[in-house]
Amino acid sequence: MEPWQGHAVPWQRSPCSARSGSAEGQSLHPAVMGALRWLFWAGLGYLSCCWPPQAQAQFPRACMTVDALHLKRCCPPLGTEPGNVCGSLQGRGRCQGVQADTQPWSGPYTLRNVDDRERWPLKFFNQSCRCTGPGHPFTGIDFSHQGPAFVTWHRYHLLLLERDLQRLVGNDSFALPYWNFATGRNECDVCTDQLFGASRLDDPGLISLSSRFSRWQIVCNSLDDYNRLVTLCNGSDEGPLRRRPPAGSSERLPTAEDVQSCLSLQEFDSPPFFRNSSFSFRNALEGFDKPGGALNLRMLSLHNLAHSFLNGTSVLPHAAANDPIFVVLHSFTDAIFDEWMKRFKPPDNAWPEELAPIGHNRLYNMVPFFPPVTNNEIFQTAEQLGYTYAIDLPGSLDETQAWAVTVGSTIGGALTALATLLLLLVLFQRRRQRRGFEQLMNVRFSPKKYMEEA
Ligand code: ZN
Repeated sequence: MEPWQGHAVPWQRSPCSARSGSAEGQSLHPAVMGALRWLFWAGLGYLSCCWPPQAQAQFPRACMTVDALHLKRCCPPLGTEPGNVCGSLQGRGRCQGVQADTQPWSGPYTLRNVDDRERWPLKFFNQSCRCTGPGHPFTGIDFSHQGPAFVTWHRYHLLLLERDLQRLVGNDSFALPYWNFATGRNECDVCTDQLFGASRLDDPGLISLSSRFSRWQIVCNSLDDYNRLVTLCNGSDEGPLRRRPPAGSSERLPTAEDVQSCLSLQEFDSPPFFRNSSFSFRNALEGFDKPGGALNLRMLSLHNLAHSFLNGTSVLPHAAANDPIFVVLHSFTDAIFDEWMKRFKPPDNAWPEELAPIGHNRLYNMVPFFPPVTNNEIFQTAEQLGYTYAIDLPGSLDETQAWAVTVGSTIGGALTALATLLLLLVLFQRRRQRRGFEQLMNVRFSPKKYMEEA
């Protein structure tokens, strides 16, 4: 089975809106959990032929007309004013030709002009809205794993989900929490009934009856059946959420050192920009590689190891997003990506312009998001996209800077202390000469903590 294929996201009705916030804390409000549940149903139901009444599609309903499809033009008005195409009257967007990546791709998909997702979304639309408004929040992503777009695709997915949650809870500053899974432990510390659900006592593979997720049903899990029957998932219940029993094996979560060594890789990605790339930050973070970059094809680390550790629903790429823990696992993964961005400030051309697997070239429009957005547009620091992480990652830039400052101030301090010491020694010698031997006392150094402002 191919690890970690795509996940569903609901269509965003308003293409241009600002976003800000920071992820902190690890507890989720019950209303948010309810909202998450709703979103998973609605989001995962997008493949369905029988849409839940409130579910939204990949393309706006307003563009699903014979005219729009003939014209290949998806530029609906925002609001009720017909002339307000793409919200142009508020300066939020404009209708323009879709640019699609034309560079060759590599990887296992070798056909041409067969799959409708090639040169996304030109098979459907060649004109669409383009955001121009304040905030320029976030644009798009594409096929989601085993290539550079792993980081951008999941980031965009989270941004869309977060925006939906903000609307559902009526709070624009709501931010998705993250789960620091790099504990090195053989138990899941957020798998408690307060958070994502403990194990059931009578069947440890299921979720505790005291958890709000105990009766959470998963959808779109029977991939083989869908393929065999050539049908689409209809979003109906396919059984309960499953996770590994606590301490059920010797498998351990990634460690803080794993995060640190992954963050030491300077190359964003390396040919063939796939799951066998070595010394690639992306591949190490995604977890097909050792955290330090040396290739080991049987390796599972960081992101992949966290999925694998959770087992059950989370271990199947097509099903993993059913488990609400998916969101916090991926926001932490995004935080590591962001730390790398801040640390290395990569130029645009750090991302391959061509010959990455389909969907992963720099200027490819991320599938299946719409309106189209390239990988390149999300290859920025989170701050540039309007949010930050309240997190202190091992070996992070802040820490390194603070360390450098501390070293500097320590050297300065040491010189001052040395001068003081010499002066004291001179005085002491004089006193000693006058009064005989006396112990040198009360010379205090005040070491600064690394994180203190110097
Ligand atoms: Zn994942």
